[in-house]
Amino acid sequence: MKNVFGWSAGEISNELAEWKLPPYRGKQIAEWMYRKGVLSFKDMTNLPKDLRERLAGHYGIFRAACLDRQDSSDGKTSKFLLGFADGTAVETVLMRQPYGNSICVSTQAGCNMGCAFCASTLHGMERNLTAGEILAQAIHIQEVLREEAPGQKVDTMVIMGSGEPLMNYDNVLSFLRLCHEDYVMGMGYRNITLSTSGIVPNIYRLMEEDLPVTLSISLHAPNDALRSRLMPVNRKYPLAGLIEAGKAYGDRTKRRVTYEYILIDQVNDGEEQARELVSLMRGQLASVNLIPINPVVERNLYRPSGQRVDWFEKYLAEHHVAVTVRREMGADIQAACGQLRNQHME
Ligand code: SAH
Repeated sequence: MKNVFGWSAGEISNELAEWKLPPYRGKQIAEWMYRKGVLSFKDMTNLPKDLRERLAGHYGIFRAACLDRQDSSDGKTSKFLLGFADGTAVETVLMRQPYGNSICVSTQAGCNMGCAFCASTLHGMERNLTAGEILAQAIHIQEVLREEAPGQKVDTMVIMGSGEPLMNYDNVLSFLRLCHEDYVMGMGYRNITLSTSGIVPNIYRLMEEDLPVTLSISLHAPNDALRSRLMPVNRKYPLAGLIEAGKAYGDRTKRRVTYEYILIDQVNDGEEQARELVSLMRGQLASVNLIPINPVVERNLYRPSGQRVDWFEKYLAEHHVAVTVRREMGADIQAACGQLRNQHME
């Protein structure tokens, strides 16, 4: 049975074109699915009864089953393990931030980018998620929030869970467009940040879409030798071209590009790297987000001291680079950056 969850109103209307329905039916069905959380055509009470039955005979609405939920001890972070029909499961995180509810969605089950510091890639990639499977994560959390208190909703979204979003380009784009629709979540593109390890051609492609989505680039090293060691993707798309793409994206969208930089003790946190990083950032509408590395037990990489982190931040600030340090959330439930994995595979 075909799953309609993840289809836009237009796609539903096109699919049903042979049935000669009025065009507004597609939007009605979509509203029931996305806005009202209805999982059965039978409950779509503004559709004629025979249409509801016919739909139920041909199509299904399959979302995701919540297989597990963990809440951090401070109650601010919740991590969900969501499972799809074929047994694949991914993790999604809700962070209750001072500025609103932020969620982190996964775009692939596992990941094959092979970054040396990240848990998501330890078992390789299982498969791409469809637009509907990415959306199911957001809708699930939207409903959790609504149950907690009326009027609560997802305010901002980061595409930073497991997987490389720009290696699953078409599905991620459909997902972005879907959650922007009023009949889905009405998310503003400006409230969405997409993080990439640096798939250069697809950064340009995204730029051409003219969606004002904020771009985050996982930099993590200021020179090719070190970056290639930490992130194999750098051998294919080296730094110079990546920075050029970041600049182009910032110029075109007028959105400040964020460069994420994990701080790893004795690896990339020295004075020389700070100096190299400053010169890379020169002349860019960009900011650097420092992330003291979150431990992943399988990796021999450690977090620098608090003093070192402060020193690095200060060095950048003094050299006129906009810089922030990422607040860690949910480390006690393995929900922090780089800690998401395919639990069920172990
Ligand atoms: N593939 C995309 C999105 C997922 S990673 C990307 O690489 O950007 C989301 C962020 O978490 C990235 O900046 C990533 O580098 C960071 N991250 C990965 N492992 C980490 C770790 N152990 N500690 C802190 N941040 C980590």
